[in-house]
Amino acid sequence: MKLLIAKDSGYCFGVRDAVDLAYKTAEESGDVYMLGNIVHNEIVVNDLDKIGAKVVRTLDDVPDKKPILFRAHGTSTDVWNKAKDKGMNIIDATCPLVKEIHNEVKALELEGRCIIIIGDHGHDEVIGIASQVKKPIIVSSPEEAQNLRKMKKAGIVSQSTQTIENVQTIINIIMTKAFDLRFVNTICFPTKRNQQQLKDLSERCDVMLIIGSFTSANSKRLHQLALERNKKSYQVTCADEIESEWFNNAETVGITAGASTPDSIIQDVVRYCETLTNIQNEESHV
Ligand code: SF4
Repeated sequence: MKLLIAKDSGYCFGVRDAVDLAYKTAEESGDVYMLGNIVHNEIVVNDLDKIGAKVVRTLDDVPDKKPILFRAHGTSTDVWNKAKDKGMNIIDATCPLVKEIHNEVKALELEGRCIIIIGDHGHDEVIGIASQVKKPIIVSSPEEAQNLRKMKKAGIVSQSTQTIENVQTIINIIMTKAFDLRFVNTICFPTKRNQQQLKDLSERCDVMLIIGSFTSANSKRLHQLALERNKKSYQVTCADEIESEWFNNAETVGITAGASTPDSIIQDVVRYCETLTNIQNEESHV
């Protein structure tokens, strides 16, 4: 059996930098606080909690003078303003590519366009993008796009981790509704690259493993994309969930992971697969 591992599986640079900053700040300040989990991965969150990076519900729960870390996927303007007004020690781990989406959506609003954000309702990144403008419309599915009214000028951005397919379908529908439409493709390049590597691997391999928490929208999307190409695609959060029968008669196994999956879990899965019968060799996929 041969293992093919997606070259860029796991943490994107935005998540990696944010997690590193949380460790560094906790080390320097004793502890650091965050409004929600830094990544959608329970193992990472528990490890961080042990070294003093704590999750709180509101800014008022942060002890005096202690740092508050704003996570990679961005923070709403209300929360930013409140933290500034309170004179809090803000550690900004917002990914530069998320900041770019904030700038693009504000520019589209200045052009007098009706703002549409293609993304998941209630997702922190989408909440942060929506807070940059006055009356955004959030569209998560083609069905929701069908229900939009006709409009003269539309400006569209997407959540950074959307699939190209979902965005394309929604844009096609909005084209029938808007006279003057401007779309800025804000799916980030690590997401595009991961999705492309996953598609290639799912088509080449007999079995496909996607490692990521079931709370991670990005990992679930990767699993969905894989299933569309290979019925023997499985999402697991760690090596313990793998069932050896999945590999019956398999000659090639592809492995990738969502942007919130740490390297240690990917390595565990690779090691587990290597214990299965007859591994010939392992190679990285470009
Ligand atoms: S998924 Fe993309 S936009 Fe989001 S943190 Fe990672 S690199 Fe940044």
